[in-house]
Amino acid sequence: MSDQSAKSGKLPVESELNHQPWSVNDSSQLYGLGLWGEPYFSINSLGHISVHPKGADGGTLDLMNLVEEMEFRNLGLPLLIRFDDILEDRLERLHLAFDKAISQYKYSGNFQAVFPVKCNQQRHVVEELVSCGRRWHFGLEAGSKAELLIALSLIEDPEALLICNGYKDQRYIETAILARQLGRQPVVVIEQPDEVERIIVASRELGAAPLIGIRAKLASRSSGRWGRSVGETAKFGLSIPDIFSTVEALRKSDLLNELQVLHFHIGSQINDIAVLKDALQEAGQIYVELSRLGAPMGYLDVGGGLGIDYDGSRTATSASTNYSLQNYANDVVATVGECCNSHSIKAPILISESGRAIASHFSVLVFNVLGVGAVSTETPEISNDEPLVVTNLRETLERIELSSKSAVIDSSFLQEAWNDSLKFKDDALTAFRLGYLGLVERAKAEQLTWACARALIQCLPDDKSISEELKELRSVLASTYYANFSIFRSAPDTWAIEQLFPVMPIHRLNEEPTQLGRFADLTCDSDGKLERFINHGEVKPLLELHPLNDGEEYIIGMFLGGAYQEVMGNLHNLFGSTNSVHIRMTNTKNYQVDHVVRANNNSEVLEAMEHDPEQLLERLRIASETAIQRGSLKIKGARLLMDHIEASLRQSTYLNC
Ligand SMILES: *Cc1c(COP(=O)(O)O)cnc(C)c1O
Repeated sequence: MSDQSAKSGKLPVESELNHQPWSVNDSSQLYGLGLWGEPYFSINSLGHISVHPKGADGGTLDLMNLVEEMEFRNLGLPLLIRFDDILEDRLERLHLAFDKAISQYKYSGNFQAVFPVKCNQQRHVVEELVSCGRRWHFGLEAGSKAELLIALSLIEDPEALLICNGYKDQRYIETAILARQLGRQPVVVIEQPDEVERIIVASRELGAAPLIGIRAKLASRSSGRWGRSVGETAKFGLSIPDIFSTVEALRKSDLLNELQVLHFHIGSQINDIAVLKDALQEAGQIYVELSRLGAPMGYLDVGGGLGIDYDGSRTATSASTNYSLQNYANDVVATVGECCNSHSIKAPILISESGRAIASHFSVLVFNVLGVGAVSTETPEISNDEPLVVTNLRETLERIELSSKSAVIDSSFLQEAWNDSLKFKDDALTAFRLGYLGLVERAKAEQLTWACARALIQCLPDDKSISEELKELRSVLASTYYANFSIFRSAPDTWAIEQLFPVMPIHRLNEEPTQLGRFADLTCDSDGKLERFINHGEVKPLLELHPLNDGEEYIIGMFLGGAYQEVMGNLHNLFGSTNSVHIRMTNTKNYQVDHVVRANNNSEVLEAMEHDPEQLLERLRIASETAIQRGSLKIKGARLLMDHIEASLRQSTYLNC
């Protein structure tokens, strides 16, 4: 290890061990970009992230330039950039994969997909999907009345499906029946046994029937976070006995002719393709039985669950999948085809409700770093009469520094030295509590402990034999990067379900990241931090980052967060929505900004909590008048205070530096 790095106190990163100059390829490997970013993100020769919104050969944008050009348009950070071309490309890939599987397996049915609106209800997003999905008669899936209203108003294509899931009251069902007369294709999916009766009553009253589907509660095993979406205790779906009684009830009311769809959904982010195969086999058999019971059938809806490889590791772990989009399509088509063939039943039109797989890639959250905090590892000046604990720590530090010069490093010695330093630090705290140690000495003891940690890190062998405790030394000294965003607003799943998203700087990627850090967000919640990062199939607590340069912004991107994050995000600490923009390529080098959605301002988030900004201003005006009378505030100060408050009400909830 070089002396220079010891002096600057910087943490050595493994790559320092080989002395090749750092290249953008090293960055690509380090952050796994080459794996999860394909084909939309790469690094250019300037060390910036490059975006390829139409895939490998459809033009390129420099993400850093784009962010700067948005800032010039007064669209400050944090900023959500939506690449509508990526959304379209995802849609195209999904359909191509199924087309390919259908011809490969000589499947006699078609494929028709819908987008589950709950994944991202933003108007511009749903509108974009409906308009570019037109060529495939792409439809929508609604899980509530409000989502049904979105779907009903946006879909005009009479061939596109409108799948109605979720709990349904009489009005929901009647709306669907009438929408069929409007020329739409709504399918009312029976998810609860008591919905049959409501469908029967509504159909009788309106003298018309909806298209009907049944959601089956599959018994097949599942895994992962959403594994409980199947099995006897699942929240939605009909058990086999319920399916039988539903069919009989529909038959009695002359509605069996409208039963055309079998639906299942085994949970989001299926990690293991074997789980999907089991479910498909089971559902295939139920489909065959429903046909035999006399229902016309015609559609099999395989739900959502198509996973995203967030870390690019291609494993059946929670941030990844052990299959590709094509593998998925092949399995759906082949399994259903085989099942129907062997029972001589006409193969159904396959419906999929993939949300995550369509919407994850297209949006990138970009935020800036406001500052960095780290513990000081400088060795404090020595003074006369230092107390014993401090002397002990100095001696420990000397022993570590001495041993780092020897050729062979004994890792049990390192462990012992670290245990000693922690013990002395504890002793110092006890002595302080009891009044035997002053604040200055306590500070020295702490600083010496961190100096020991720094010295130890520099002699750690680069192998896996060292203990977990020693490995964690890096995290003791890691920096905290203060980030201008709220994870509760913009990345809620990282907090709620420990979801991993790829996170990395979007520039300086031709420069070695010499620091290890975690991110702390703007909220004053101790959970408001990012300290779990993708690591080739594993998780790491710290990310390799660059030291801040004076007067220069340090900008980080969070990728693959286009699904679920926006709507699940909340107003914790009253941080509102960020600015967002929709970008479309106009040719291979240029883009246009199709839509701008301004960030919530402080006035809006206050109103969301029933506060009245006008009243708030008036109260403060009266308080300032009183203070002026009292003589504690000058008129000029009062004016400035009111100006600040008025400006804050108009501005975004984030820091504008
Ligand atoms: C949530 C949901 C989906 C979408 O799942 P993804 O994993 O995002 O593809 C599809 N269908 C139903 C019924 C759902 O509840």
